Amino acid sequence: MGKILEIAELGHPVLRERASEIENLGDQEIQNFIDDLIATAIDSNGVGIAAPQVFEPKRIFIISSRPNVRYPNAPEMGPTALINPEIISFSEEKEKDWEGCLSIPGIRGLVPRHKLIKVKYLTRDGKEVEGEFSDFIARIFQHELDHLNGIVFLDRMDSNKELVTEKEYQRLISKAMEEMDLENEG
Ligand code: ZN
Repeated sequence: MGKILEIAELGHPVLRERASEIENLGDQEIQNFIDDLIATAIDSNGVGIAAPQVFEPKRIFIISSRPNVRYPNAPEMGPTALINPEIISFSEEKEKDWEGCLSIPGIRGLVPRHKLIKVKYLTRDGKEVEGEFSDFIARIFQHELDHLNGIVFLDRMDSNKELVTEKEYQRLISKAMEEMDLENEG
């Protein structure tokens, strides 16, 4: 089992540097670090976390997706480590949706992201994978990949007017839920 790591918050320079490629994936030290990153993602209820967010400027992130209020149809993707990830190509079409970030607590923003991306990465066993992600998973991938390049979601927003506090976000979501319930009843 991994240990829970401290989260770096906005303003710390580690969140603004380019993380470096992993060349020693087989090392026990890196494998232990991946366990710690997964444990930290689970502990913080994040759908993703990138290594720079725990003060390690390395090109590794975790995606952990499950159905939730915002995305009832979100695919089930158990905590998965993606190493040296890249986007090979993407759809021109973008979609805006709410994002939050463990490193920017208390704030949510509407962020445009490519709807469909083709990607490649290494698994923690060193296997090269090429795949396609859409919608929610594509959004997480783009958010986490940005962290490896020193970019946070605030940098991707169209307008500061699409920022809300966590409290207002929760209010928005519960309103959306009520409307969904009404639709289901009707
Ligand atoms: Zn983030």
